[in-house]
Amino acid sequence: MAETNGLLNRRSGTNRYRGFESRPLRSISLWSGAVFSAPVFCCPLSVVMIQDSLLALVYVGASVSFIIGLKLLSHPRTARRGNAVAAAGMLVAIVATMLLHTADGKPLGNIALILAAMAVGTVAGWISARRVPMTAMPQMVSLFNGMGGGCAAAIALLETVHAAEGGSPLTPAASSMIVASAIIGSVSLSGSLIAFAKLQGLIERSVRFRGQNIVNSAVLLLAIVLGSTIVARGQSDTALFSGMIATALFYGVAFVMPIGGADMPVVISFLNSCTGVAAAFGGLFYGNHVMLTGGIVVGAAGMLLTLLMARAMNRSVLNVLFSHFGETAIAADTSGQRSMRSITPDDAAVMLRYARDVVIVPGYGLAVAQGQHALVKLSTELERSGVRVRYAIHPVAGRMPGHMNVLLAEANVPYEQLVEMEQINPDMPQVDVVLVVGANDVVNPAARTDPSSPLWGMPIIDADRARNVIVIKRSMNPGYAGVDNALFYLPNTSMLFGDAKAMLETVLDRIKHL
Ligand code: NAP
Repeated sequence: MAETNGLLNRRSGTNRYRGFESRPLRSISLWSGAVFSAPVFCCPLSVVMIQDSLLALVYVGASVSFIIGLKLLSHPRTARRGNAVAAAGMLVAIVATMLLHTADGKPLGNIALILAAMAVGTVAGWISARRVPMTAMPQMVSLFNGMGGGCAAAIALLETVHAAEGGSPLTPAASSMIVASAIIGSVSLSGSLIAFAKLQGLIERSVRFRGQNIVNSAVLLLAIVLGSTIVARGQSDTALFSGMIATALFYGVAFVMPIGGADMPVVISFLNSCTGVAAAFGGLFYGNHVMLTGGIVVGAAGMLLTLLMARAMNRSVLNVLFSHFGETAIAADTSGQRSMRSITPDDAAVMLRYARDVVIVPGYGLAVAQGQHALVKLSTELERSGVRVRYAIHPVAGRMPGHMNVLLAEANVPYEQLVEMEQINPDMPQVDVVLVVGANDVVNPAARTDPSSPLWGMPIIDADRARNVIVIKRSMNPGYAGVDNALFYLPNTSMLFGDAKAMLETVLDRIKHL
């Protein structure tokens, strides 16, 4: 564990055990003072070593809990447990740090302040997480992620102030880590706050101008130049450091402002990955294994998710982040004079009740309408009548990865009924009725047939290949990509206009009276 604080010790030039040997152990820490008070006067150094070793062990356990938690998070059935396992690991690591951590023989100070801050954060997090509706989850994730980035930047700034006060220059390695953590954390903080404001509808317009990418790159370059100057000088210059943080914060704003709302989940995932990297640099700086592992896990998971989302939309990450596509409903209506067929709930009830095989395609509109429970009641009624019912899940349906899985899990849909897009598509020509509920882009055949469409190449659920399609939505408005949907004008498609929840309840009522 001497290794653990290696950088700090090298920086301050002090032996962490110096001055400690004469100090009564009772002052070391709350808990260890009680446990180790007997041997303290005979062998204090070894007690500190035991504490350090214990702490290192706890950190290894916490790191393992993050990895197990992440693994469990990858399936809806185990996701809750995964969340709990990782959170428990984090809690144990925090408590152990407060009890066992020592630097230069001194225990952690300001415990009351730390506990108070934790209490405020826990209450705020608990209340907001309980209150937030499912549809607002992406902006909440963005807000929380921004806090993580802000923490990394604040830690870096504090360490610079400490070094400046102590008059001891940072080593090039230590200052590089601090600078990297500060720049990446600041970009993540301001970028996440803008993403939050956009998704929350607080910022409605995307600011775009010619040469924007060049201007933005110049701002980022300026932050990097300032950072490099700090590293090269080797002196802790708080003013220069603050200027660098301000430039990085500005870059975060400038980076996210032009990106359209539809691409915000990808941006959030990317910024999440940045926060992980910033924390990992912090972990390297402190030689803190749990911070390092946590940062690496978040950084890698965020980047993988970013890549997966981009791939599911058939776009590159660079295209998502720098092409400034993704504005809501920007495309012109290309429907022309094409006709579509509108049906009543009675018609829909007959089609569904007398089908043998029904596939339900849920989308963002189902989440908006909070119609998941009504949908499950309808499918249970159909199954009671001998209809086979399955749910087709598109990877980017809704507004965040796994949105539909979470939504349907909330209504206790058995996981066996959820079928991935690749598995359900070959069955489509044999399906009697596809019921599209609040989905649009993910069933747009233009992705397969129209090379000029912004959706071209995106894998879709082939609802158009089924014998009959019923689409529940409120109007002919486009989906998030802002493009018209050729599916609505096909001869085998019937439109059932209305709010998803209200329509599902009405259709269920009609089926019961058939
Ligand atoms: P969508 O294309 O956004 O379409 C949602 C549809 O729901 C709209 O056409 C809307 O039509 C309808 N709707 C809204 N409120 C409704 C209500 N109360 N009742 C009934 N219908 C309602 O949704 P999607 O098919 O799920 O596709 C998701 C889109 O988000 C894709 O473009 C995807 O690329 C993008 N995206 C997703 C993620 C992710 O991680 N999931 C990430 C990035 C981007 P009306 O207004 O006419 O009702």
